[in-house]
Amino acid sequence: GIGEPWILSRIRTIPDFPKPGIKFRDITTLLNDARGFRKAVDELVQPYVGVAIDKVAGIEARGFIVGGAVAHQLTSGFVPMRKKGKLPHATIGQSYDLEYGTDTLEIHEDAIAHGDLVLLVDDLLATGGTADAAVELIEKAGGKVVAACFVIDLPDLGGAQRLRDRGVDVISLCQYH
Ligand code: 5GP
Repeated sequence: GIGEPWILSRIRTIPDFPKPGIKFRDITTLLNDARGFRKAVDELVQPYVGVAIDKVAGIEARGFIVGGAVAHQLTSGFVPMRKKGKLPHATIGQSYDLEYGTDTLEIHEDAIAHGDLVLLVDDLLATGGTADAAVELIEKAGGKVVAACFVIDLPDLGGAQRLRDRGVDVISLCQYH
């Protein structure tokens, strides 16, 4: 991988999870490490200190953990982007393709105000299907995506390029090829 040793040494790789052939990058070991967790959040927020970010949008479920900490540090509101059927109030949704079938992300219809500056956060960027749907949904709600931030990017799967092609800045703390 490419990235500084402090973060790479705190990310665990699980072979054949959740399916044979997949190398799952496990960030629970990074979250479990007090200094590692703080440093990761500090580095993610660093470009946005002093920028008036209205909302941090975190993608279920690991994006809640990282995004919640980022929102706290930036004094921004937090918007949970959830899988279909989990949010209690009226929602707007965006579907996206999976390898087999589709999935839907939802937010509360009043979670993002027109013109809000939004920072999108998730743990890992792979094909970009999830993040692309998240950007679509934020824009549908009237928000402006300032950037999409990830702990890990898998650049060979094309997600970062896909987001940049639609004009979204992409930031990641480390990359695995
Ligand atoms: P994409 O939609 O970009 O193909 O997949 C990204 C989504 O799948 C993210 O929400 C991310 O949490 C999850 N994901 C896929 N592979 C991994 C992995 O190896 N490690 C972790 N932590 N999450 C993954």
